Amino acid sequence: MPELPEVETTVRGLARYLEGAVLKRVEPRREGLRRPFPADLVQVMTGARVTGMGRRAKYGLIDTDRGQTLVFHLGMSGRWRIEPEELGAHDHLVLETESGHTLALCDPRRFGSVDLVETARLGEWPQFAAMGPEPLGDELTAAHLKAALAGRSAAIKLMLLDQRIVAGLGNIYVCEALFRAGIAPGKAAGKVSGPALARLVPEIRAVIAEAIEAGGSTLRDYAQPDGQLGYFSKRFDVYDREGQPCSQCGAPIMRFAQGGRSTWHCSKCQK
Ligand SMILES: [Zn+2]
Repeated sequence: MPELPEVETTVRGLARYLEGAVLKRVEPRREGLRRPFPADLVQVMTGARVTGMGRRAKYGLIDTDRGQTLVFHLGMSGRWRIEPEELGAHDHLVLETESGHTLALCDPRRFGSVDLVETARLGEWPQFAAMGPEPLGDELTAAHLKAALAGRSAAIKLMLLDQRIVAGLGNIYVCEALFRAGIAPGKAAGKVSGPALARLVPEIRAVIAEAIEAGGSTLRDYAQPDGQLGYFSKRFDVYDREGQPCSQCGAPIMRFAQGGRSTWHCSKCQK
């Protein structure tokens, strides 16, 4: 599943082709993904100039001079193909720029989404309205976490996956950040000390920033938006490493189910 770093990498990759470009052709090749494409997608986007690109949580943003932003989500298996030699059955939306670049949103499992949102009101869009701060933004601070987690008995790991607390943090990065900060994933969120939260915030930033730098993490079904299928290799300390030795103490990494998903941790290093 594409996580925040993959979405950021995708946006940066797309920007090379789309920033400032005029969209000559906008072609939906089916009705939609997890929900229908906007009825006015072709009308609004054809002839529009891309004025900026961005990301909010795991959504990519393509701003246009029509005052509308195309908001995409890659779902479980989405990726953008750059200059595909030929279009395939899973290329569901095709954009062609005036300068002749072709970009195709490919999503075999169709859990992704494409929406048009008024740019000036993006913050009010229901999916964004209740979202917490970006992990790389200045608003994510130990004080924010302290306030948001105060009195909460749910596990710190589950709270960090809650988009209202921090936007766009996925399972991998929560496991890794908690390991680096030495915080047990099952600990009640409200019981995590101020100093521990102060250690956690820079580790959240670091794991995300390192993954972006590596160009996105190694995940099935994900390809870089440069037209080449391939996997980036990123070594994780705990994620998907059950039974392997902890990089700090050598004890075996443990896995348990939390909120229906796996958590990996070192029970010696994380308290
Ligand atoms: Zn350890």
